[in-house]
Amino acid sequence: MSHLVLVRYGEIGLKGQNRRLFEEQLARNIHEALGPQLPNRVRRAYGRLFVELEREEDVGAALNRLRQVFGVVGASPALKVPLDIEAIKDAALRLVRDKAASGPLTFRVDARRPNKSFPLTSQQINETVGTHLLRNMPNLQVQLKGSQLVVAIEVREHAAYVYSDQVPGPGGLPVGASSRALLLLSGGIDSPVAGWMALKRGIRLEAVHFHSPPFTSERSLAKVEDLSKVLARWGGVVRLHVVHFTEIQTELRRRCPHDLMITLMRRFMLRIAESLARQVGALALVTGESVGQVASQTLESMASINAVTCMPILRPLVGFDKQEIVARAQEIGTYPISIRPYEDCCTLFVPEHPATRPTIAEAEEAERALDVQGLVERALAGIQTRVVGPEEPV
Ligand code: ATP
Ligand code: MG
Repeated sequence: MSHLVLVRYGEIGLKGQNRRLFEEQLARNIHEALGPQLPNRVRRAYGRLFVELEREEDVGAALNRLRQVFGVVGASPALKVPLDIEAIKDAALRLVRDKAASGPLTFRVDARRPNKSFPLTSQQINETVGTHLLRNMPNLQVQLKGSQLVVAIEVREHAAYVYSDQVPGPGGLPVGASSRALLLLSGGIDSPVAGWMALKRGIRLEAVHFHSPPFTSERSLAKVEDLSKVLARWGGVVRLHVVHFTEIQTELRRRCPHDLMITLMRRFMLRIAESLARQVGALALVTGESVGQVASQTLESMASINAVTCMPILRPLVGFDKQEIVARAQEIGTYPISIRPYEDCCTLFVPEHPATRPTIAEAEEAERALDVQGLVERALAGIQTRVVGPEEPV
């Protein structure tokens, strides 16, 4: 016998072909997220997914893992029984027995009957099962609104399912349902959260990190790798591309006005990220920028930085306050890693008085002193890629 977890998903507005792709992607992602440690099969059935686990003792771990699979709205351990009201009554009783053992409990039965050939209507099932539970469990009391326990019953074509507890999932779209994007991942608090938000909309991610040895250390790289591991728990394996940025930063410092350093560095990051994105088939860039945080995040500054690329840039944090970003980082598990000390290639080269309103013309003028194309090409040629898989939660 297999042990079942019933999975509900959202985005029910999706229709036809889109809906089927969504369901297939979600089924694959669930299967992969549970992995060989929790041997499982995932079946699709009319607006639900059923995860069949080989071992009963895996149910708890599976429910926990499903909290991190985008597309999942809720998951419940379920009992599968034959299409027979006596079997349904027994299962419902088995389900509530432990819960109602310790004290009074309000409950209601919520039956659905997609299988119209079943002899009882939903209402009749509710009443029959409710009466059976009341008769056997003196602690129970019916309450139709706001009850502590909902005993859900679904009567389907070949079997009926009885379940109660629901573990909430993260919602969103299954990763892979949308195309690929490239995340500019620093070691800070914001960009990992931005990456998570992109994953939540079903976008598959690769990541690029700019580092400047010897000014930035191996420790900084390890940090970015650890952040990628957390993202991989949510979105599957992350390919992390590391760009050596030292030559560009040194050249900028030697030849360009210091107050434009940040603008010029960011312009190079975007040029390199855009080329890399095309190489790996990513259609957009994702950054952790939000408006107004720092000098480089005024709209004027964004305009001068953005001017070097025509690739869409997603900035999922644009509507967030810093506290909201921090709270999200804590929820998803990136925060403790992000606050580890590290040297950021940008802050190290930050001038005392960065220009807050650099114009495109000023940036272009400053870049005349540089071999822009050569610098970009050499940086691209030196990229090192690591494949980062998920790790146990932090
Ligand atoms: P974060 O917390 O993500 O570092 P931030 O608030 O410090 O963001 P900035 O330093 O202005 O903001 O960086 C803006 C965005 O530029 C970052 O969110 C990230 O997407 C990208 N970025 C900055 N530094 C790097 C880097 N070394 N490698 C890759 N991307 C970077
Ligand atoms: Mg930063």
